[in-house]
Amino acid sequence: MTAIDKKFYNLFWTDPTCQTIFSSHKAQLLEDEVELIVTKEKFYAQRIVLTNSEKRKTGTQIAKRAENDNIELIHNLQTAAKKYFDEAKIEVYVMSRFGKAFKTIEKDLTKSGGWWKLAMKLVGSLDSEKDLFKLLADYHLIPKEIENKEQFGIYVESEFNSHLKEFLKKKNLSELAISIDLISTYYNHKIKNNLVSATKHYTDIFYDNENYKDRLEFFDNLYEIGLIKGGKLKSYYECVNCSPNTFNGVLTLDIKPSSLKLKCPSCSKELFYIVPYELNKVIYDNIVHKDGLLFFAIQHLLEQYNYKFRPNHNQPPDIEIDFCLLNDQQLIYEIVEVKMFKTDRPEDTQLGNIREAVSQTKKAIDKLVSVHPDYKTFPKSIVTNITSDTVYKLAKKELEKDLKEYNIFLYTVSDFYIKIKR
Ligand SMILES: [Zn+2]
Repeated sequence: MTAIDKKFYNLFWTDPTCQTIFSSHKAQLLEDEVELIVTKEKFYAQRIVLTNSEKRKTGTQIAKRAENDNIELIHNLQTAAKKYFDEAKIEVYVMSRFGKAFKTIEKDLTKSGGWWKLAMKLVGSLDSEKDLFKLLADYHLIPKEIENKEQFGIYVESEFNSHLKEFLKKKNLSELAISIDLISTYYNHKIKNNLVSATKHYTDIFYDNENYKDRLEFFDNLYEIGLIKGGKLKSYYECVNCSPNTFNGVLTLDIKPSSLKLKCPSCSKELFYIVPYELNKVIYDNIVHKDGLLFFAIQHLLEQYNYKFRPNHNQPPDIEIDFCLLNDQQLIYEIVEVKMFKTDRPEDTQLGNIREAVSQTKKAIDKLVSVHPDYKTFPKSIVTNITSDTVYKLAKKELEKDLKEYNIFLYTVSDFYIKIKR
């Protein structure tokens, strides 16, 4: 472990705010990023976004303004495109370049079930980058040699550069600077929208009206230990008290969270801000890891209290135990299973999650017992990120017989800390 992870996991076990926030399931903690076409994997943003909107009271106003801006900007961009680009020349180029593709597609579509076959071809090719580019080449959209994203990027760029000159209306180019400004405005507008939707994602996890100040202090701690970093991602400030466009902007900053407040130069009211911080790579990887952050937090805790243990113990053919605790003779005396669930679900869903975890553990024990009979008597701990006492009480009552028979104990994160700390 590096110094930063050590500091972070110390904070995790000792600071209730840190534990509450970072025990959340990755889908609650991190926003989704756009799914890429060629891989079906889900991407999570490597950032957390701070705001002073306090339950988005002012955020709604921002969202409304953003909608109007959007209509205006798209209109302006279309006008700009007409001014600089010679549409007739572009049409001639497209027909000469892609006419073959249109014909092939047309031909395929007139065959019986053609559209269906074409759709299946497209869907089938989305699984692999190579298949996708082969499909595009079959339809004469790109040269056959292109097999991956990098080659495609180079191809598009060179195509674009070699034809750009023909398409531009030279007489209007002197005004290009204004349009570039327009494009950058559009880009900033995209950043703003992206940040506004991020704060919606975070409202419930990061901001608790009752302890908003404590939370800012906690984020200062994260900033000080280097877990969150500024200076790279773009932030957004706006005065929502003044009329639109009196004061707003996208900027880069590297400032601790409690110092983000700024005043509007016109009305002196506090500016609304949305500031993303880059999340430390190691902790980000732990969060998105299939085992989840809680696994790594427990590993750290066991190390800190000098337990002998084996993580990710494999028992052929198909059993994996999260942690085996070992005695001085290196023999297993307890096993620990760690589970992370989405905690923003109704209580009966969470109860169902625990029921499922116990049932999986039982199945694993039955298989283990057939190899080593000792497994039946070891204590087995199941630690989950569920925080509701009601859910735990119900689970213990409902599953009493199984828990007793298999010697299984259910723990919340804080209960497990009390058990391990010595
Ligand atoms: Zn103002």
